[in-house]
Amino acid sequence: MGLHSGAPVSMRIVPAPPGTGIVFRRTDLDGFEVEACSRNVARVSYATSLMKKGVFISTTEHLLSSCVGVGIDNAIVELDNLELPILDGSALPFVQMIQRAGIRKQRRPRKYLKILREVEMREGNKFIAVHPAESYSVSYSINFPHPLIGKETMQVELSNGSYLRNIAPARTFGSREDEKAMRNMGLIRGASSENCIVLTRDGIENGPLRFPDEFVRHKILDLVGDLALLGRPILGRIVADRAGHAMHTALVSRVLRDRTLWKEVTLPEEERDAPASLGAPASLGSTL
Ligand SMILES: [Zn+2]
Repeated sequence: MGLHSGAPVSMRIVPAPPGTGIVFRRTDLDGFEVEACSRNVARVSYATSLMKKGVFISTTEHLLSSCVGVGIDNAIVELDNLELPILDGSALPFVQMIQRAGIRKQRRPRKYLKILREVEMREGNKFIAVHPAESYSVSYSINFPHPLIGKETMQVELSNGSYLRNIAPARTFGSREDEKAMRNMGLIRGASSENCIVLTRDGIENGPLRFPDEFVRHKILDLVGDLALLGRPILGRIVADRAGHAMHTALVSRVLRDRTLWKEVTLPEEERDAPASLGAPASLGSTL
């Protein structure tokens, strides 16, 4: 079911030809398609939602994050309701279903978006920047006023497979104290102790954590999912401090808007095929 809508949903990922990108298809609306790209971004508070001609695809970040993490460039994601399933609140179930289906390399060389110049955005105490780099890495800091969290910082190199070990299993989180207000806003109708870490005033209700710093790892998971809206894998180093979906997606549209900030590149064969890379273009080898 969806985290915010609480609506039941079934999802299937099917292979797609090179150049497709990730496209959502609403099977309950005559197969209407919404591309996972920046111009379809509709809402960015609490979750990232896409909309095209009034058709919503909500809470896209965990699924898109898993696609980037396993190196899927092209796929059709079919769903029969407006929100992606929340599953266990992490990207791990998506990663596992993709791995079970298999990944197929495609012949066309993968195109990367290579950052050429630094971009910084600041809003109050929130900050996000991207710097030129030869690979995709993230340094993320959060500062939550909670005895279990406080200041957490994590740096991760995403092009060496560490996404699967260190980021994919990190679950979303929310606090009991905020629950009522969020439900009154029509949010988190599908939330439960099965699909998010529930924070109490001084601890957590449904431990143990999967990592002592699971919270900042989940923020990186969300960032990777939101940056997938660039439409191709990025070569750059992201630095974020207390950012969220709004700043992640603002960075995406800022970068795409200014063509002097980036160029499209392909990598030499040996780098593309090296185990350290995210892999060549791939789509799912079978349906799920
Ligand atoms: Zn999330």
